[in-house]
Amino acid sequence: MRAMVLAAPRTPLAPAELERPVPGPGQVLLRVRACGVCRTDLHVVDGELPRPKLPLVPGHQIVGEAEDGRRLGVPWLGSTCGTCRYCTSGRENLCDRARFTGYDLDGGYAEWAVADERFCLPLPDGFADLDAAPLLCAGLIGYRALSFTGDAARVGLYGFGAAAHIVAQVARWQGRRVFAVTREGDHEAQRFARSLGAEWAGAGAPPEELDAAIIFAPAGELVPAALAAVAKGGVVVCAGIHMSDIPSFPYELLWHERTIRSVANLTRRDGEEFLALAPLVPVRTEVTTYPLESAAQALDDLRAGRFSGAAVVVP
Ligand SMILES: [Zn+2]
Ligand SMILES: [Zn+2]
Repeated sequence: MRAMVLAAPRTPLAPAELERPVPGPGQVLLRVRACGVCRTDLHVVDGELPRPKLPLVPGHQIVGEAEDGRRLGVPWLGSTCGTCRYCTSGRENLCDRARFTGYDLDGGYAEWAVADERFCLPLPDGFADLDAAPLLCAGLIGYRALSFTGDAARVGLYGFGAAAHIVAQVARWQGRRVFAVTREGDHEAQRFARSLGAEWAGAGAPPEELDAAIIFAPAGELVPAALAAVAKGGVVVCAGIHMSDIPSFPYELLWHERTIRSVANLTRRDGEEFLALAPLVPVRTEVTTYPLESAAQALDDLRAGRFSGAAVVVP
């Protein structure tokens, strides 16, 4: 089968001809219909995450078709041990022995993939393959991040890419007010954010206090900036798997019961909740498609911010 393979970190993805994977016990074989591109894929390729399987087929937002015709989604959480103290307390996202799709396990930048069936998610009708793919990480982990803002009425989204474009729609549907903080001069992202319900989009400080901020951009300097923007008791949620160092900041920014927290991975319950909610909003994804062989170009375009919304690779 055709696949895009990472031979070593900090080298470009290269096309390769691989054996079609054979499903092991509990696994399902899927013909890949679409696979979303995530910033995490970029961190893996750029060597910013410590121990990927090598060689690796990246990609963890797989829309696949099983041999019996079912359409299944394969997210980042590929498998867990089921027995550790995290797995047995509703926190399988933190499992000590979790294995992740497109990192510990080959992912969806390929014509075929195998996945542990217990961790596959049935996809809602009404979403074409291309539109469903970004729900599986941008949507799911964005939703988990949004849930950590509690009942915050004014939510700031820092970095308006694949996740934020979905989260903005969910937040508006929940009756929240959305403020989008983008890079200086990124008028396209600002226009895009406004089109999805952000009442303000710009660079620098939002025009009024926020109750919560979610940081999607991997830039540590946004943490003190977001803390300065949230009201007393507010929370700053760091939603990415990797971020540059957070600069030191005066305790005053954290004072008054402000909180900083991260979001790690997802649980299957997040997946079920979000995929039930997405058709109700309904979430509309904006996707740019790339043929499988152009996956490296998709990652370059993500790095450079050349598209709005999400990129999806199609074998
Ligand atoms: Zn576990
Ligand atoms: Zn992801």
